[in-house]
Amino acid sequence: MSAIRTMPLADLRQGLHVSVSQIKSWLMCPRKYQYQYVLGTEPAHRPVALAFGTACHRALEAFYEYLQAHGRKPPVDQVQTAFVDRWAVEVGDPLPLLFDEDQTADQAKDQGVALLGAFYQQGFVPDEVIAVEQPFGIELVDPETAEVCDIPMVGAIDLVARHQGRVWMIEHKTAARRFTADRIAWDFQPTSYLFAARNLGLDNPAAAFQILLKTKKPSCETIPVNRNHESEIEMLDTFQHALRGIEAGAFPRNRGWGCADCQFKHKCGG
Ligand code: SF4
Repeated sequence: MSAIRTMPLADLRQGLHVSVSQIKSWLMCPRKYQYQYVLGTEPAHRPVALAFGTACHRALEAFYEYLQAHGRKPPVDQVQTAFVDRWAVEVGDPLPLLFDEDQTADQAKDQGVALLGAFYQQGFVPDEVIAVEQPFGIELVDPETAEVCDIPMVGAIDLVARHQGRVWMIEHKTAARRFTADRIAWDFQPTSYLFAARNLGLDNPAAAFQILLKTKKPSCETIPVNRNHESEIEMLDTFQHALRGIEAGAFPRNRGWGCADCQFKHKCGG
């Protein structure tokens, strides 16, 4: 079966590799994938949701690193400051952010501070933090031919934690609305985490989304996901088909809701 490598993420990313987000990007719009990962096209802007998510991610990382080191939660303002500091970096980037209509950087900052306050009250506090940003590299096997692909899948698990007798792989998300049942059932990210965990030799690992909801009243929910062997086979099958498409140079446009804040719309026409 596949091997897993646990060297630093920067080292894993040195060689040819693919990530879950790259495959999801190709599935969403192959032309956008081509601009971003094949041609290295200069983007016109950065979507604000991406920058906001990065800043929230950094704050959660700081929270769990503190919990791991001290065995208790950090003060809430320490978590909120981690968000504010990272948000300032995002806003200061020379590539401009594309804000939603009537939204400003300060409003987004206030929203982030409130969201981290909700996380602090409602978020996942495990019995023990095992790792924050755990890197992994896994060989991809074609489920039809059993051949090992020469491009490994590389990624990092947001949080690995022991809780109530099981080891949990947690994926952090920020979202404007609740995830649909389909997304919870099929998203490849937790599937890849569980696949990596099983290849690491973990017995009966579990996975969950921790979602910071940017609703009018900010909230945070942790949603366990169910995956089985068939889920992993389906993920590998989808990856194989996507990689064949990429190798064959299949990069059609897929116009839809994702075009509205696409960073490469200026190149794409229409
Ligand atoms: S504008 Fe739409 S079709 Fe064109 S690359 Fe972006 S997402 Fe794809």
